[in-house]
Amino acid sequence: MTQNTRILLNSRPHGEPTAENFRFETTPLPTPGDGEVLLRTIYLSLDPYMRGRMNDAKSYAAPVELGAVMEGGTVAEVVESNDPSLAVGDIVLSHLGWQSYGVQPARHVRKLDPSRAPVSTAVGVLGMPGFTAYAGVLEIGKPQPGETVVVAAAAGPVGSAVGQIARIKGARAVGIAGGPDKVAYLRELGFDVAIDHRSPTFEDDLAAAVPDGIDVYFENVGGHVWDAVLPLLNTYARVPLCGVVAHYNDTEAPAGPDRSPYLLQSILTRSITLRGFIQSEFVKSHYRQFQTDAAGWIADGSLQYKEDIVEGLENAPEAFIGLLKGKTFGKALIKPREA
Ligand code: NDP
Repeated sequence: MTQNTRILLNSRPHGEPTAENFRFETTPLPTPGDGEVLLRTIYLSLDPYMRGRMNDAKSYAAPVELGAVMEGGTVAEVVESNDPSLAVGDIVLSHLGWQSYGVQPARHVRKLDPSRAPVSTAVGVLGMPGFTAYAGVLEIGKPQPGETVVVAAAAGPVGSAVGQIARIKGARAVGIAGGPDKVAYLRELGFDVAIDHRSPTFEDDLAAAVPDGIDVYFENVGGHVWDAVLPLLNTYARVPLCGVVAHYNDTEAPAGPDRSPYLLQSILTRSITLRGFIQSEFVKSHYRQFQTDAAGWIADGSLQYKEDIVEGLENAPEAFIGLLKGKTFGKALIKPREA
């Protein structure tokens, strides 16, 4: 008989997550009630925000409880439906978390059209990461033709879209990524300059890449990349602050000196706009236009994407631990084996 495999939060990490923070469990398939559907996961999306959900700390979203299924976006197939809006075989965007099956109210899922785009893109370039890039760079970054836009984690799903959208808007795109393969990929995507943040000459390479300074810096990372970027920001630079993945595993404040006075003075004297955001704030106002624009750009080749698909739900913890360290290359997806 088919069973559900689930991955639970077993313990909270101190620093980098380890395999012991996760626990596997096999349970009977859940039964959908009225208005609900039973879903089989086709793709589980792995995203950096999941690290924050593993902490018992106040944030913009509640933590995953100990012993609960790890949270996550999914593309899934309807295997049983108790709602007239969905039929067996429909593919939906859903939020089942790290499990091979799950039940959701039909009104909480969105039916996908597999003839429109590969269904995996619903959690990638046409989904949350693509939308994050779109909203952050256009609404906060506001790149103008000829301006210089710099983005870190540029080979990932958010960063790669940021750089390509900046170019679509007529700006120069400078991408920062880790290692020669990712740097080569950014050149393939059409970034004007691609830089390796692991190179010993990184700071000089970045300065040389932005002879007119930086007008927009899309922050995904923090750490040594931010340290190199800050002195190069122009007067009236805009910084959409999207993520600081270099710090998600931090257990204590970094060693001194305290650089916050330099940061505050820079913001003041160069009239810099530093604006944090969570993509959900823009969904109501911009999601529909994003879907139209992104689909058009994918169709005309100006927005390309890459996926890193790992087979087997059992490999999710290792893939997730690697994601936080730059081991994945493109949108990280888990494809559970069919039960
Ligand atoms: P990625 O798939 O790009 O994975 C994160 C990447 O960050 C790694 O691949 C690695 O790339 C890079 N990285 C990790 N540690 C460091 C470090 N110490 N220094 C420099 N680079 C590092 O992730 P996403 O595209 O999914 O997400 C990018 C960022 O956007 C994350 O910070 C995420 O939390 C944030 N985000 C925010 C949202 C919001 O609403 N605000 C929504 C979605 C994402 P490399 O190998 O190139 O170093």
